[in-house]
Amino acid sequence: MSGSEAGPLPLVPGLGAIYFDGRSAQAQAAELHIHQSTLQVRLGAQTLEVPLSQVQWSERTRHGRRSAQLPGNAVLQCDDTVAWDSWRQANGFADTAIVLAQQSWRWVSALALGLVLLLVAGYQWGLPVLAQAVLTITPHSIDERIGAITLEQLEAGLLQPSQLAPAQQETIRQAFAQALSAQESTRPPAWRLEFRKSHIGPNAFALPGGTMVMTDDMVDLVEGDTRTLVAVLGHELGHVHHRHGMRMLVQASVMGVIASTLWGDFSWALATLPTWLGQADYSRQAEREADAYSLDVLNAAGIPPSAMVTLFDKLKAKREALATKGRSGGANSDVGRWLGIAFSSHPEDAERIAFFQGGGRK
Ligand SMILES: [Zn+2]
Repeated sequence: MSGSEAGPLPLVPGLGAIYFDGRSAQAQAAELHIHQSTLQVRLGAQTLEVPLSQVQWSERTRHGRRSAQLPGNAVLQCDDTVAWDSWRQANGFADTAIVLAQQSWRWVSALALGLVLLLVAGYQWGLPVLAQAVLTITPHSIDERIGAITLEQLEAGLLQPSQLAPAQQETIRQAFAQALSAQESTRPPAWRLEFRKSHIGPNAFALPGGTMVMTDDMVDLVEGDTRTLVAVLGHELGHVHHRHGMRMLVQASVMGVIASTLWGDFSWALATLPTWLGQADYSRQAEREADAYSLDVLNAAGIPPSAMVTLFDKLKAKREALATKGRSGGANSDVGRWLGIAFSSHPEDAERIAFFQGGGRK
């Protein structure tokens, strides 16, 4: 069996390999050729013809010998992987897409990037849609229960009984109820207004289920001006109306379920959800919706929206006063950050001020 091939017929030179016939352990030197759809295994004077459809080529990996399975447990082996690969390539064999992808870091990176993008897109767009769907089938009694648990937790550390005169508390409640009664388009959700003394400064927040908490400091800051307090409460009731707190919890739960699917334990999420509600921030979109709700309340009640701008100014002045007093403002802002859903934890930026100023000109 000579290696030199005369004539134009075999365009691709043969490949040297080892042949095992599947019956004995004896290795035989073989030369492989591809002729049309047939693999020719030349063993000395004898040539085996095997239809290519019956040959199982081993998957190409970076290392290791190459082999092919033939009918009847016969095997071809070759240690010269480079020769094997180039011979196959010269004969027009294409690697499967998987092998090519595995070997190409570019492909692997692209696939990983695609997966990340898919997750981000799912988080960005899929999660809110899913949360909304879950929310529509969640009864409001769950909102109330979660709100009650959260208030209990806050009262254990952050909130003390109010020192405002009950008459003043009632005046503010009445003012807000009256402002809401002027609203025609949307029926306001059920609400309850609680006053508490707290070191979180002038603040207010709404819990799922409709309980709103206002700090004594907030009332003091605006010197009991009910119009401004109605603006704040309108914002908080907007969060209740849109069930923003519940939406955050549902989204956190969905993330928790995904995390538990990937990493196991989910019990921590259930145990920490109410606390987590205090630590999370409403999204910018949620703040816009709450501001819009407040503006509707103010407009319907005939209260100039500048009442909210006045509050923003006072909060800013208070914050700056604290800052100039040295580090004393630091502790306060830490608390503000802890209760992310609280009114004054999201800064009264130019956009929000312009929104209420613009609403006033309507
Ligand atoms: Zn808010």
